[in-house]
Amino acid sequence: MIKTRQIDVKNPATGEVIESVKVDSKEDIESAILKGHSALKAWSSIHAHEKARLLKKWSEIIHNNKSDLARIMTLESGKPISESLGEVDYAASYIDWYAEETKRLYGRTIPANSENKKIVISKKPVGMVAAITPWNFPAAMMTRKAAPALAAGCTFIVKPAEETPLTTIKLIDFAHEAGIPEDVVQCVNGPGKEVGEVFTDSKLIRKITFTGSTPVGKQLIKNSADTMKHVSMELGGHAPIIVAEDADIDLAVDQTIASKFRNAGQTCICANRLLVHESILEEFSNKLKTKVEQLKVGNGLDDDTQVGPVINEKGFNKIISQINDAVDKGAEVVCGSNTHSDTEKEYFFVHPTVLKYVSRESSIMQEETFGPVIPITSFQDLDEALEIANSTPFGLAAYFFTNDYRTGNYIHDNLEFGIIGWNDGAPSAAHAPFGGMKESGLGREGGVEGIEPYLETKYLSIGNLS
Ligand code: NAP
Repeated sequence: MIKTRQIDVKNPATGEVIESVKVDSKEDIESAILKGHSALKAWSSIHAHEKARLLKKWSEIIHNNKSDLARIMTLESGKPISESLGEVDYAASYIDWYAEETKRLYGRTIPANSENKKIVISKKPVGMVAAITPWNFPAAMMTRKAAPALAAGCTFIVKPAEETPLTTIKLIDFAHEAGIPEDVVQCVNGPGKEVGEVFTDSKLIRKITFTGSTPVGKQLIKNSADTMKHVSMELGGHAPIIVAEDADIDLAVDQTIASKFRNAGQTCICANRLLVHESILEEFSNKLKTKVEQLKVGNGLDDDTQVGPVINEKGFNKIISQINDAVDKGAEVVCGSNTHSDTEKEYFFVHPTVLKYVSRESSIMQEETFGPVIPITSFQDLDEALEIANSTPFGLAAYFFTNDYRTGNYIHDNLEFGIIGWNDGAPSAAHAPFGGMKESGLGREGGVEGIEPYLETKYLSIGNLS
């Protein structure tokens, strides 16, 4: 008898198993893909206002179950409950936005070069879409893909990260409860490599949309080539914050904390390198220290927790090795760098850490950390700051603080990043295009741009009219 494989979903704050989820076999996944493909014609034929109604109903059910959903998210991801509640709203906002955009999938007509002809352009769904999502935003990373896909008339199948499948499973149940047919939006579970290969090998899947690490994204692009799938990739980041000489230091400190310590620093757009003008370095780092030391670390279910555990031992070891490497290369620990963890129970906490005088050669200045650690280095002039900021293969998010419009304009023009916050550490929004340049990805999610990757352009030339 073949033993059913399962994923034990653990609470990263305690190491306890919350629930076990069945791993879908290759046959299960192929059968789900077939169902999704078969449902495509009927779903894409439903008129836009009915699709909008179903999507809005889905969002409404999510809102009605906000606290339960947030609790599940905190249990499986470790993030503070206040952040999980915020993520539920954020996830639903993508559904609301695309419930409206589905009514605005306009085509156009083009004046022809003959009285005898008419040219009509229309938009059609790309087909069945497969999504693979990460553990750090288990709700929002899914709805950011599912909502535009469904709004465009595509059918959708998602594989969530093994660490956090429960939030996604719940969200898919809510979609069915809202009346979206079961075959139109589906979830399968299993190890990324296995499920990913079934998705990319399938001729019935026409698009892969992925959020996760850059190496996995590159592999998915390669595996999608043989069937010429559409691909959207939201990958790693290495965000700089530039604090100019004239910046409002208190604002910059608060926004740095908001950007860096959210989700224990495990967000792709969170600040990874702090570049502060040398004339304000000491004042800035002293103010930052005072506030960072007040952050409460703990179990995300406790109401006053501001920083939860990191997701797993692999993440924990990467963070610690980056801190040690920076200190070995001359960095000073301003605050933090202590930990509490239990390898056997599998929980890992890193206390919010600030490092100063960090060498550019340190690994933390070159790679994404995904942890609550902020390295500070100083600069003398803006071109030096921009050179440091741009010297990375990543180009997802960047931030800068200045009250001088010429300085701001210059920095904005010269940063090679897809998302830029000027005096703003929290730029994400359903109505704005989210995505990166260079090795941070392909395509955008959110805004009017976010539905385009789910659409094909169809060109009709009508002749012999007169
Ligand atoms: P990861 O290893 O790439 O995992 C992300 C997802 O990919 C998981 O569902 C994982 O499944 C799956 N996966 C792993 N190997 C795979 C393979 N060979 N083929 C297909 N799927 C595979 O990323 P992570 O380290 O867990 O997540 C953090 C990364 O995501 C960071 O680099 C971060 O910057 C990035 N991220 C980017 C954005 C953005 O919008 N740009 C947002 C959030 C996170 P299993 O874990 O179940 O195996």
